[in-house]
Amino acid sequence: HQAWAMRSANEPATTVDGQHIEVVANIGGLSEAQQATTLGADGVGLLRTEFLFLERTQAPTEDEQFATYREIAQAMGDAPVIVRTLDIGGDKPLPYLALPAEENPFLGERGIRLCLAHPELLQTQLRAILRAASFGRLRIMFPMIADAGELRAAKAEIERIRNELQVAPIEIGIMIEVPSAALMTDILAAEVDFFSIGTNDLTQYTLAMDRTHPTLAAQADGLHPAVLRLIARTVEAAHAAGKWVGVCGELGADPQAVPILVGLGVDELSVSVPAIPTVKAQIRALNFAQCQTSARRALVCATAAEVRQGAFD
Ligand code: PEP
Ligand code: MG
Repeated sequence: HQAWAMRSANEPATTVDGQHIEVVANIGGLSEAQQATTLGADGVGLLRTEFLFLERTQAPTEDEQFATYREIAQAMGDAPVIVRTLDIGGDKPLPYLALPAEENPFLGERGIRLCLAHPELLQTQLRAILRAASFGRLRIMFPMIADAGELRAAKAEIERIRNELQVAPIEIGIMIEVPSAALMTDILAAEVDFFSIGTNDLTQYTLAMDRTHPTLAAQADGLHPAVLRLIARTVEAAHAAGKWVGVCGELGADPQAVPILVGLGVDELSVSVPAIPTVKAQIRALNFAQCQTSARRALVCATAAEVRQGAFD
């Protein structure tokens, strides 16, 4: 099966009735960018930049970050690369940042909240990304956006730095991974170029189940109809505004979820590098009209188990 998927890796992921889905990679460094290209990725849907910041005693410099982003942009050639700004929080300590201990790190200062509270960290990263942007097709994405105020503050930093550096505009998107953002997508859509749904966090926050919890994590299923309703709403709001939507959480590579996400109208699936050929192969065998029927049925199921038991066959 894997060998068969590999042979057609570079073919586009288009359903039998002509619905095209971009299949892109979640990566955490340059070597994965190279593997993603080999395995037929249409681009990078999520560059997790945390690898540059963790396990070191000093923050990476602007030049160091610039060099890394440039190499990744060049490795992907004409294909787009979504660079997600630093997404750390109270549960992942950084030796060079004094982060106060928090009772509930997942509800604390993480993602864009932390970056806005430490502007020098965000500014250095944005300068490096904007400088690297001319070497490929970079896009910027902010994690953990909970409301338009955060988005506007983060966008203002980009505009200020862009003026300083005299560089071209860049596409800007946000992760939809906090329920408040998913519920406000009709408003947020006007202020971004794209959305990417982070189903790992969106599931954790929607179901109030810690994604790392030893017993609860297994129940935190992104195919829960509550999560699917937030995804449906996000896609509708984005498309009404002429914007596109990706999914970059683990759900995007779940074989039971792929037909439902496609049926909900998601434009792009961003998956781990090894999953790219199989997800593309699965999409090529799907019928979009049937996926839409499955998605409609999934939205009126009562539980994730019911969705898994057969809303999609
Ligand atoms: C997500 O939350 O679904 C996501 C893709 O981001 P991360 O797993 O890095 O939090
Ligand atoms: Mg997340």
